[in-house]
Amino acid sequence: MKILLVEDEPKVAAFLYKGLSEQTHTVDVAMDGLQGLHQASEGQYDLIILDQMLPGLNGLDVCRRIRAENTRVPILMLTALGETDDKIRGLDAGADDYLVKPFAFQELLARIRALTRRGHEGPAAEAVLRLADLTLDPTRKMVTRAGHLIQLTAREFALLHFLLRNQGRVVSRVDILEQVWETSFDTGSNVIDVYINFLRKKIDKDFTPKLIHTLVGMGYVLKED
Ligand code: CA
Repeated sequence: MKILLVEDEPKVAAFLYKGLSEQTHTVDVAMDGLQGLHQASEGQYDLIILDQMLPGLNGLDVCRRIRAENTRVPILMLTALGETDDKIRGLDAGADDYLVKPFAFQELLARIRALTRRGHEGPAAEAVLRLADLTLDPTRKMVTRAGHLIQLTAREFALLHFLLRNQGRVVSRVDILEQVWETSFDTGSNVIDVYINFLRKKIDKDFTPKLIHTLVGMGYVLKED
C-alpha cells in the first residue's frame, strides 16, 4: 500500500515510517499541513495518516480540503488531545477513524487493515442495494436518495452499506463495531452514535420517509417507517 503520513513530530514520524515500511508499505512523509495537502493532491494514496496538530495548516483543515477534492481515500486522524469533542471534529472534517496518542503500533495496524480492506473488495460487481428511494451501489461507491447524489465519507458509506445489507433487522452497537469498524477496540466513545447522526443528516433529514430508526437500549434498524 502507498501511505501518506502527515506528522510534524520527527520522532513519531520516524517511528511510524520505520514500522510501516517494515510492513512492506510505501510511506511518504510530509512534515506540515500545507506539504501534506500538496502531496495528497498530487499522489495516489491508499491511505492518509494525518496528525491533527500541524504547523502551516492544521489536520482538520487538511482533511476538509482533501475531502473537497477526493472523497474516497481513507483518512486516519491522529490526535494527542483525546477529548471526545476533538474526535468528533476530526470525524466531522471527513476523517474515517482516529487514534489517540500514544497508541500501540499493533492498534494502528489493526485500524489500517479495517480502513483499507473495504477499498480492495475485488473487481466483481455487487448488486445495488435499495430501500424506499435510497440506493447504494457498492461497486461505484455511489449513494442516492430520491435521485440526489449523496456524498459520504468512506466510513459513512461502510456503515450505510452494513445497515442496508441488514435492512429490517435490529443491529446492535457491538454488531456495528465488529462489522464496520472491524475492531474489538471499544474506546467507550459514542463514535457510532456520531456516525449514525452524520448519516441521518445526509440521507434522512431532508427526505421522507425516515429510514434510520433508533431502538433505545438495542441498537438501530434501517427500514421504511
Ligand atoms: Ca503534531
